[in-house]
Amino acid sequence: MKRYSAFAIAREALRNHTGWDRAWRKAQPKNRYDVVIIGAGGHGLATAYYLGKNFGITNVAVLEKGWLGGGNTGRNTTIIRSNYLQDPSAAIYEKSRSLYETLSQDLNYNIMFSPRGVMMLAQTQHEVRGYLRTAHANALQGVKTEFIPPKRVKEICPIINLDGPRYPVLGALWQDRAGTARHDAVAWGYARACSDMGMDIIQKCEVTGIRQEGGTVKGVTTTKGDIDCEKLGIVVAGHSGVLADMAGFRLPIESVALQALVSEPIKPVMDCVVMANTVHGYMSQSDKGEMVIGGGADGYNNYTQRGSFHHVEETVRALVETFPMISRLKMLRWWGGIVDMTGDRSPILSKTPLENCFINCGWGTGGFKAIPGSGWGFAELMAKGHSPLTEEFALTRFREGKFIDESVAAGVAH
Ligand SMILES: Cc1cc2nc3c(=O)[nH]c(=O)nc-3n(C[C@H](O)[C@H](O)[C@H](O)COP(=O)(O)OP(=O)(O)OC[C@H]3O[C@@H](n4cnc5c(N)ncnc54)[C@H](O)[C@@H]3O)c2cc1C
Repeated sequence: MKRYSAFAIAREALRNHTGWDRAWRKAQPKNRYDVVIIGAGGHGLATAYYLGKNFGITNVAVLEKGWLGGGNTGRNTTIIRSNYLQDPSAAIYEKSRSLYETLSQDLNYNIMFSPRGVMMLAQTQHEVRGYLRTAHANALQGVKTEFIPPKRVKEICPIINLDGPRYPVLGALWQDRAGTARHDAVAWGYARACSDMGMDIIQKCEVTGIRQEGGTVKGVTTTKGDIDCEKLGIVVAGHSGVLADMAGFRLPIESVALQALVSEPIKPVMDCVVMANTVHGYMSQSDKGEMVIGGGADGYNNYTQRGSFHHVEETVRALVETFPMISRLKMLRWWGGIVDMTGDRSPILSKTPLENCFINCGWGTGGFKAIPGSGWGFAELMAKGHSPLTEEFALTRFREGKFIDESVAAGVAH
């Protein structure tokens, strides 16, 4: 595959852009692969990429029932940060954030990583204590974060109203190398690199069954026929429970719709990301000028991949208190995705009761930021049978009570 470069852009400009290759091949399934990954979201594609890059395993198929990146990966609000509380979380999220720093160069694809800084507002004394605790934990973990006073909050984000009637801003947890990236580009960049290594990304190929014998997976049944494999990775986010059911085991996961919306585009007013978790809303500004606004998850389990009026109303009402200027904006569009929530709000990257079957899920409302780190660790787990990054995230923790409680860092926030 030809590399993208300034020289290539100049060359194509001179010949009416007729020389670009397809970013990834249109593949048809073979009968057998060394590894089959179900789900061409960011996590599935990143897993395939690091299987090839770090372990030389390239006889890989990634099967996708819709279009690649069409699940949560293409529906999120793109916040990237690593200021979690517990050590295993800090390790995998910081690995991920650091991979994001050079991902465009690594993939030769501009994923538009923008380390513009992420701020989590403390609007109650309880939150102040919680974020101070996180800042201290991050210092011990080597993750660079700081707790900043209201004056500094206002300097970084002048449109904030510090003296809201119910919840004044008392400070914030600030991570200056956190930020955003273009979500589609992350999926497309990984897909292009996987295809370049000879892997097959097969879209419109739904897995409808998992064939097994004596506790070992033999292959999958799909809408494009049977495919055999040596190892199987299930990476389907909100549909993890459905796939686990096909494989014959149960997961401690709930699937719910999570929603977001964008305003009409306006001139630049905000060059960082702000989360207001007490009032339950967060906001950033896209490169196109839209205010990207996210809210909470539905309070009941469902597979409804769309937005709803009451969430829009609740989220905007909450944010107006802290950002009065948004009351005059018009909403452009809104949408939803199905997220997979665990009880401790931490992911599952694990072996399963089936010998050669692995599962990566439970990223809930915050897995976009984790895509490179999760792919790195999960590929190692699939290739070698263990990985220091994923060890604590095994399914067995729910039986043994070794929860990784991230309800403060990830319960509401993204
Ligand atoms: C509104 C919203 C806002 C969010 N904001 C943020 C944020 O700001 N920051 C952040 O870090 N995270 C955020 N998230 C969470 C983040 O988007 C997800 O955690 C992450 O994208 C999960 O990626 P994935 O690859 O696991 O799943 P997905 O991208 O959902 O990919 C799974 C794929 O599996 C496919 N699939 C399912 N069943 C089958 C089958 N039977 N056969 C074949 N394929 C199948 C699906 O079609 C899908 O494409 C947000 C999510 C939503 C919905």
